[in-house]
Amino acid sequence: MGCNAIFAQDAGFADPKDVVGKDDYQMGWRDQAELYRGDDRQVIESDRSKLLIEEPQTTPEGKTIVLLTSKIPLRSSEGKIIGVLGTYTDITERKRMEEDLRRSRDELEKRVRRRTAELEAKNTEMERFIYTVSHDLRTPLISVSGFLGFLKQDAERGDLDQMQTDLGIANEAITKMDRLLLETLELSRIGRVANPPEDVPFEEIVEDALGQTSEKIRSSGCKVSVAQNLPVVHVDRMRITEVLANLIENSIKYMGLQANPKIEIGQRIDGKDRIFFVRDNGIGIDPSQHDKVFGLFYKVDKKSEGTGAGLAIVKRIIDVHGGRIWIESELGKGCTVCFTLPLDMNSASSR
Ligand code: ATP
Ligand code: MG
Repeated sequence: MGCNAIFAQDAGFADPKDVVGKDDYQMGWRDQAELYRGDDRQVIESDRSKLLIEEPQTTPEGKTIVLLTSKIPLRSSEGKIIGVLGTYTDITERKRMEEDLRRSRDELEKRVRRRTAELEAKNTEMERFIYTVSHDLRTPLISVSGFLGFLKQDAERGDLDQMQTDLGIANEAITKMDRLLLETLELSRIGRVANPPEDVPFEEIVEDALGQTSEKIRSSGCKVSVAQNLPVVHVDRMRITEVLANLIENSIKYMGLQANPKIEIGQRIDGKDRIFFVRDNGIGIDPSQHDKVFGLFYKVDKKSEGTGAGLAIVKRIIDVHGGRIWIESELGKGCTVCFTLPLDMNSASSR
């Protein structure tokens, strides 16, 4: 093997003369000797150059680099092939940059795909929301329009009593529609108008919520127990109080014929998550309804009191806080509503 000064230097020799007489097996790149010899043989046997091939090389220091190599037949003055002439460029840095570029492009594509999926999910949710709102708002409107027709007939007959009744029913429908609209408005405000989050002991929030619902608790005869050592959470205090008040009211409302009505407010730790819960021993919810009950105006039993907006509002508040909410329940076996919340720095790190 013969070479120029730069090759000798790259191969770890001071002088090109030191390389003369050696072969690939005696160099730092002995691991690739077979590969290089294969190239050489191919060039000699085919009498054709091999240009710009990317190959690895182990340096004298033991590093692996990438070379862009070209090999052409080396001829004697008579034109006979007597060997191979090789040139190379170290493209390790270029390859590294290409790899970095590819990795950031992959990462970017992954992020775009994730964002698109999130947006699609939001879009579907929005479509469902618009459908529900318009559908449920039309019901009382149709009722009003029907009773206006009856009123006309009542007037033609001069039946004042029936007019009073029909007016009353139309009014009820209007009141219901107003409530639905107010609740829709409330739902839309949650993400837009938020109080700045503050560090609050969860116990205080529970106390506030129990204060707000004390009348209902008393008249229902429910026993409420609250766990000790609840952490400090980092939340919009008013909104989370609203969440708890809503859940407590639901527990009271859906107690059924329970002789010992009980509500338990507590927490449990599950892996990395601290999970808060409101548990009751009421009528429970069938697993097929666990997701549906969070839908706006969805009620398992249409005849129960309320419009079915409570849990939709609760879920929206938890969503805005970056938490999750779900139901653990079986029909007839009580209901537990679980949720996660951002904790204050100390509570988060002391878990
Ligand atoms: P609103 O809260 O608007 O007054 P609502 O209580 O019926 O009305 P949500 O709070 O959204 O509406 O609850 C939706 C439905 O989920 C309820 O109608 C009920 O069927 C069911 N549900 C909610 N909480 C419980 C519970 N603790 N036990 C059993 N069923 C429940
Ligand atoms: Mg409710």
